[in-house]
Amino acid sequence: MKDTSKETTLIHAGRNPHANHGIVNPPVYHCSTVLFPTLDALEESDRNPLEGIHYGRMGTPTSFAFEEAVAALEGGYRAVNTASGLAAIATGLMAFTKAGDHILVTDSAYGPTRRFCKETLAPYGVEVEFFDPAVGAGIEALLRPNTSVVFLESPGSLTFEVQDVPAITAAAKRVGATVMIDNTWATPLFFRPLEHGVDVSIHSATKYIVGHADAMLGVLVCRDEASWTAVKKAATRSGTTGGPDDLFLGLRGLRTLAVRLKQHQESALALAGWLAARPEVRRVLHPARPDFPGHALWKRDFGGSSGLFSIVIDPVPRAALAAMLDHLELFGMGYSWGGFESLILPTRPAAMRSATRWTDPGIVLRLHAGLESPDDLIRDLEHGFRRMRAAL
Ligand SMILES: *Cc1c(COP(=O)(O)O)cnc(C)c1O
Repeated sequence: MKDTSKETTLIHAGRNPHANHGIVNPPVYHCSTVLFPTLDALEESDRNPLEGIHYGRMGTPTSFAFEEAVAALEGGYRAVNTASGLAAIATGLMAFTKAGDHILVTDSAYGPTRRFCKETLAPYGVEVEFFDPAVGAGIEALLRPNTSVVFLESPGSLTFEVQDVPAITAAAKRVGATVMIDNTWATPLFFRPLEHGVDVSIHSATKYIVGHADAMLGVLVCRDEASWTAVKKAATRSGTTGGPDDLFLGLRGLRTLAVRLKQHQESALALAGWLAARPEVRRVLHPARPDFPGHALWKRDFGGSSGLFSIVIDPVPRAALAAMLDHLELFGMGYSWGGFESLILPTRPAAMRSATRWTDPGIVLRLHAGLESPDDLIRDLEHGFRRMRAAL
């Protein structure tokens, strides 16, 4: 399916109905033990347990179908699934680091990514250095002979800084560092990191790929056989592989990803436009808006924008913020995003920066535009702002 569009790939990748009685979706294999009929067959499988069906943790037709579909979408060699997005990040970092290495991690990375680097990798002897997401080609000055990994996330969590991925990968290649990116926000539909020199593209499939807030799943798409083997070994050695029903939900979610994302994109832009005109809102942090600092890079490299963005509102007392957030009827308050439902979350980016400083005194609210009617969502927010003002 080399020449098909992404939308078509989404529908057909990882499916082979006629190998399965003509049934449209692949079966879900629940598996721990795999039986070998002969000593020869057992020994043959032992020689390369990374391939074929060897033991539940090593992969099943269900996980292979999911991995095949995501790898096809991103144009990767092959993919490796994990039990969550964070497990994918941890697996990728473990695959390419050892004691004595130095790694560079964007200052805008997802909070638990930072924590894994600082609280797990650093005590194991990996030197972790955070860098300004706006560094671009300037990353050159930070690279060392022992820099093994450059970890990107673009747009960044909470504040959506867009990174100059091609400039960073070009510099990283010169010292032989592996470049990884957390591509969760864009999904394989809106950004294809491997085409910009990235070695391993990581997704929290929990978000848009599963898409219904009912499973946790991660996936790493690898550029070539060497990077795939390293990641596959790290995942199977540490046992971070996903469960069969969650993999099935990931595969099912992929089929509707394009139509869902179209609506998430449209609704988020409608909300962002309305919010930008509100007197309470100081700034809208959305890469697809021309006034956003990372907009030019986003426009150059991305094929669209998803439903997640932030706003900065004027500082208000906590009680006024609670008056707004506590009584929203459509927006839920909680972690994660990428499901069919709208979400809002107060965040504190200042607490998650070390190479840069977040100095805006306003309150940062992260919004996820779900699949409700945008007019209804706007009305919910309008009522929220009214309650906030009344509480001042
Ligand atoms: C949610 C999230 C993760 C972690 O994924 P889980 O599936 O929740 O473990 C990683 N990166 C980003 C950008 C996320 O938003």
